[in-house]
Amino acid sequence: VLQGRDLAVLVDAAEDRGGLEAIRRGERLEGLLDLADELAAVDGLVLPGGESTVFDKLARTFHLDQPLRDAIAGGLPTLATCAGLIYCAREVRDAAVGQQTLGVLDVVVGRNAFGSQVDSFETTLDVKGYGSVPATFIRAPRVVELGSGVQAIATMSDGSVVGVQQGRITALAFHPEQNEDLTIHRTWVDRL
Ligand code: GLN
Repeated sequence: VLQGRDLAVLVDAAEDRGGLEAIRRGERLEGLLDLADELAAVDGLVLPGGESTVFDKLARTFHLDQPLRDAIAGGLPTLATCAGLIYCAREVRDAAVGQQTLGVLDVVVGRNAFGSQVDSFETTLDVKGYGSVPATFIRAPRVVELGSGVQAIATMSDGSVVGVQQGRITALAFHPEQNEDLTIHRTWVDRL
């Protein structure tokens, strides 16, 4: 599982290799390119919460967008949460200017649909196939359109779709990891 070695880690990797200078010079870093090769060897991929515009910029800068797209579209089991969901979506409403996504998940998402950071909240949700789990919403998206091959697996009481499954992609609008409950990750890993 490529757990934690998400795109956000690129920054750490760059620092580890004294790479910030190289980034400034616009050089490609060997270690970061290895990450693309590693995709072929992993059992699954977690695209976590964070900031989808940053994922997009880093992935394109380091030429990881197409390897990621190919791997996920090719059936790599993927757990995408919050920014990860946005980054996978076919279309993003309220996207940042020039923001691109992998487009591997046939949904339209509304970015920041539940408000800003100060509107963050926690609730408990029934997620089909996972049971009842605590869910933390931080600048979370909402799924506003689902393609025919996409199933809703989590829905709020107001009808907002906040979890979907498409083949081997599980995508959640909320953070499942901001608490002690490991149900989502444990169940997902057990199924790999
Ligand atoms: N709104 C953020 C984005 O656009 C996602 C926030 C999060 O992952 N908690 O990527």
